[in-house]
Amino acid sequence: MSRIVYVNGAYVPEEDARVSIFDRGFLFGDAVYEVTSVLNGKLIDFPSHMRRLTRSLSELSMAAPAGTDELLAIHRELIARNGLSEGGVYMMVTRGAADRDFVFPPDGTQPTLVLFTQAWNEVRSPEVENGLRVAFVPDLRWGRRDIKTVQLLWPSMAKMEARRLGKDDAWLVEDGMVTEGTSNNAHIIDREGRLITRALSNSILHGTTRASVLRLADEAGLTVEERSFSCDEARAAAEAFITSAGHFVMPVTEIDDVVIGDGRPGPLTLRLRRLYMEEAARTAL
Ligand code: PLP
Repeated sequence: MSRIVYVNGAYVPEEDARVSIFDRGFLFGDAVYEVTSVLNGKLIDFPSHMRRLTRSLSELSMAAPAGTDELLAIHRELIARNGLSEGGVYMMVTRGAADRDFVFPPDGTQPTLVLFTQAWNEVRSPEVENGLRVAFVPDLRWGRRDIKTVQLLWPSMAKMEARRLGKDDAWLVEDGMVTEGTSNNAHIIDREGRLITRALSNSILHGTTRASVLRLADEAGLTVEERSFSCDEARAAAEAFITSAGHFVMPVTEIDDVVIGDGRPGPLTLRLRRLYMEEAARTAL
């Protein structure tokens, strides 16, 4: 069934949506995006996604396509028009269409704004029961991973490598330390019950789910250490999990062929997932 998508001011059937071949998102990957989760037709962590979008745009000196209120209204309209109960809304902003040139086009070029919905069933995903198996893959991405750009070729290749190895996803590794997952933040819990997760920097995306989960962990009395952890530490962890808007808190039960804990999703991981889901349902817009 065809979706209704949003392109530059218009709600149109997906087969009628058009963007110029001169769009800089297409030619240069000169574009940023957000994916906001939808539960029971409501948006999870929307203000967090808007703050990150604003930061991504500002870091790239890119014009905002619309204000936050208008973007919220477009998200809601798309959810309503597509009858979306559970899934996500993808939003992408590019620097717009201009003759191909490495130099940015003049101020005033109209940014391109595209949004579409995707239905998925993450709450009852079977992966929550079993946990994910992840492989280590070198992190060959660019140096500004804190900006949420659409340059996702390496994450895509890393995920394909994980699949070739028979795993669900890759944890990216730089200088012997884990940076993050291909499209999620990576966390471990050590044998003393401490949650260890890489500190924010240009090396990782500043995850909206990561921020909420770290706050909830702290409120629940867990010790949280924001520091880099090595591949050896990951293999020796008592529990492991990823966070993302698409997967919320998802257990990891195998890392680089090593079974984590007893091979079942860990109790602290499942507790954090429960806390996150409760708060998400309570604060959804
Ligand atoms: N890290 C990367 C590289 C990502 O692509 C994503 C999400 O797409 C995340 C982390 C998780 O961020 P969030 O929790 O805001 O979805």
